[in-house]
This record gives sequence, C-alpha cells and structure tokens, in this order.
Amino acid sequence: MSAYVIEPPKTVSIPVAGGGEFPVRRIFCVGRNYAAHAREMGHDPDREAPFFFCKPADALLTGDADMPYPTETADLHHEMELVVGLKSGGSDITEADAMSHVWGYAAGLDMTRRDMQGEAKKLGRPWDMAKGFDHSAPIGLMVPASTVADSSKGLIELKVNGKIRQSSDLSFLIWSIPETIAYLSKLVRLEAGDLIFTGTPEGVAACVRGDVLEGTVAGVGTVRAKLV
Ligand code: MN
Repeated sequence: MSAYVIEPPKTVSIPVAGGGEFPVRRIFCVGRNYAAHAREMGHDPDREAPFFFCKPADALLTGDADMPYPTETADLHHEMELVVGLKSGGSDITEADAMSHVWGYAAGLDMTRRDMQGEAKKLGRPWDMAKGFDHSAPIGLMVPASTVADSSKGLIELKVNGKIRQSSDLSFLIWSIPETIAYLSKLVRLEAGDLIFTGTPEGVAACVRGDVLEGTVAGVGTVRAKLV
C-alpha cells in the first residue's frame, strides 16, 4: 500500500516510431540558438553563453493532437525545433561523451505567448507563463538516434497552412547538440528522460485559431498541430 496521500501524477511519455513510449522527466529549452533568430528578436548572437528555460513535462502535446489556443495572449508564436531525448545523464558531461547520452530525437514546437514574454523581458520577470503553459509543446514521434544519420545538419522547416514560415538547417545551430548537453550538465545533473528543445531558426510569427502547423526535421520526422 502506497504512502502517497493523493494519486501520484502519471508519467508523461512520447510515442516512439516503431512502438513503445519514451518517458519524459524534464524539458529544457535553449534560447536564441540560431543567429538569424537572435537577430530578429533584437539580440547580437555572437556566441553569448547559452541560456536555458524549462517547460513542465505535461506541457507536451503528442499524437498530432489539436492545440487549444492558450488564454491570456493575443500573440501566440510558433518556434520550430529539433528535440533531443536523453537515455542517461550526469554532471560535467564532456562534449566528447555527450552524444552517448542521447536516446533519440523528435520534431517539436516551442509555442510562446510572445506578448507575455515581451512584458516579462521588459520587467525582468521569469518566462515561465510565456513558455510553459498547458499544451505549449506539441511534439512528433521520438526516433532512436541509431536511425538518424546525422543530427548536426539537415533541413528544419515549418509550414503554416501549407506555406513555409520557417526554413533553416540544423548546421546553423550556434551551440551544437554536444556543446549544449555539456554546458547544461554543468548547471544541473542531467537524467534519463530529460528533453532538450535546441532552439528555433528565424521566421517566428503569430498564428491564430484554425491554423495548421506542420513541422519537419529532415531525417527525424514531423510534428503537426491544428490550433483550435
Ligand atoms: Mn524556443
């Protein structure tokens, strides 16, 4: 008999291509990791140290489910991203060792209340409610790293209602996947089940109810969400 005084929360998981579920522990997101996106947000991307924010695991939206347009925003932005899933963790992981901790990848969306984020930046407040709201992280199937030929390059693209809104290449990441894992592991001890949203390329923009978002990361997969 469990000593829990309420029902323990369910483990959030992401369906894996080919079967099974990837259980999720935490979601870390990298800010401003493509130079052209940093510039469009008004920043100089010349390799300032990477910075991170988090979303709760249950912000994930799987199975190409419809995404409810969130409350308290009139400026919901899409950010198309490559997502990395870890099978193991540690502190002070070296760049050389970093990729051995990667279980797989997925295509994901870091949906953002841009108006609320802008206000938070101005007032020096945290981004949590701008970034970590319910259903703020639509994500496609996880694919094992063994099936991904090269996660350091390849097209990353987002179409909204069939029109290309974001189009770039993973090779334009300022901080590569191993660099990001190594850096993050100095800040926190990484664990199996942790996800890292690696940042979005340029072209972020507002979307509205009825829009259909379809993202692709070459060699990894797709993510789809209709805003309702
Ligand atoms: Mn992002």
